[in-house]
Amino acid sequence: MSENKKIEKIVGVKGMNDLLPTDAPLWELFENTVQSVLKSYGFQQIRTPIVEPTALFARGLGEVTDIVEKEMYSFEDAMNGDKLTLRPENTAGIVRSALEHNLTYDGPKRLWYSGPMFRHEKPQRGRYRQFHQVGAEALGFSGPDIDAELIVMCQRLWDDLGLQNIRLELNSIGDAQERNQHRAALIAYFEQNKEILDAEAQRRLYTNPLRILDTKNPAMQEMVNAAPKLMDFLGEESLSHFDGVQKILRHNSIPFTINTRLVRGMDYYNRTVFEWVTDELGSQGTVCGGGRYDALFGIFGGKPTPACGFAMGVERLLELMKASGEAHQPAQCDIYLVHQGAAAQMQSFVLGERLRDAGLDVVLHCATAAGAGSFKSQMKKADSSGAAYAVIIGDDEAAANSVSIKALRSEVMENNQISVPFDTAVDYLVDQIADAGQDDHCCDDPNHIHIHH
Ligand code: ATP
Ligand code: MG
Repeated sequence: MSENKKIEKIVGVKGMNDLLPTDAPLWELFENTVQSVLKSYGFQQIRTPIVEPTALFARGLGEVTDIVEKEMYSFEDAMNGDKLTLRPENTAGIVRSALEHNLTYDGPKRLWYSGPMFRHEKPQRGRYRQFHQVGAEALGFSGPDIDAELIVMCQRLWDDLGLQNIRLELNSIGDAQERNQHRAALIAYFEQNKEILDAEAQRRLYTNPLRILDTKNPAMQEMVNAAPKLMDFLGEESLSHFDGVQKILRHNSIPFTINTRLVRGMDYYNRTVFEWVTDELGSQGTVCGGGRYDALFGIFGGKPTPACGFAMGVERLLELMKASGEAHQPAQCDIYLVHQGAAAQMQSFVLGERLRDAGLDVVLHCATAAGAGSFKSQMKKADSSGAAYAVIIGDDEAAANSVSIKALRSEVMENNQISVPFDTAVDYLVDQIADAGQDDHCCDDPNHIHIHH
């Protein structure tokens, strides 16, 4: 084989992104905030597989939805011929799991999940083939109170994440019978306007006419605006449920607009549906969507169980966080250990372990292909690590059983280096770092995550 033979590089799958270390602090901040907000409402985490039987989605989401028609990664397991699908969403999986494990046997459950979803879409800003959702599912609750609670919880999350300019759109799509009546009226109306319908709408006329209302085709807007409104077909129970949700939202000062065109993409929804939307992300402005799905347990052959939930798009929310914040890069560690010589290296390992025992984050300098690294180059690395202190052990220190400590950030110790006995170094550094934590206001800063008291 020739030495210069080019080896072809393998690149990642289109539309599926790597999460790089520079973005990790932002993801961590997001995930920690989500976890604490959901916990504060009594939601428990659930994790289900990313692969499910294809039938789960075909039956649960509806055969004529965007997702089932054209967005699913479905395949046959080469080992046994099972028909499988990478989950495009997680409500169907949660309900399957709840039925399989009889999760609601002792009463309703508040659940939440977080993880990757897969949809074969055209990749673009805010739209990927692997993306991440955080979702909540409240199983076994029938009243408008839980619908409102889910929405109030979202609002708290936006506040805690420092996100503004996310507005709430709300609608009720009624129950099955009301939707059927509306559907019949809608089909009749679309038939009268057949010449205005585009090809997609024609195709959906009898299979999913409701979805035509969701069209983005400007030529159809006027016709669609004048179509029969589902709201006018809602009965007393649906209306009072919807009214109940609105009352609680108003009482909690959560502004919303009623968007009678809001229908959502999945068939399983009924009554309350909602979306959180921002204008700051271009055309992919929906950051969270949800609603009630009282029929889904029944569709999967389970005992009828009312339920309500939402899913948010993590990538879109992170983009908002980036745009809205000084999301600064937190330090990689508290202390960078610089050493020179064999004896010093051994002592550095010992000191590193002791510092970690004391709760500090420590990066120990390690050799690269370029070698162990000169003192100067190690100090450069220490500086760019964001560490508060460099701890230096050279031949002299190793011989004297001491260490040199150099403050890398504080003005007071600028260019100041002090020497302390090896055995007191840990206490000295813990004290210094604890004091610094009290003096400045970094403890209020959720990005400052490196000092554990
Ligand atoms: P859209 O109308 O943007 O296609 P959707 O109705 O298909 O959204 P849902 O199934 O309700 O979306 O999923 C909930 C949220 O997940 C969306 O509001 C969005 O924030 C996010 N999301 C959906 N699809 C993608 C994707 N392909 N890439 C990134 N985020 C997505
Ligand atoms: Mg979609």
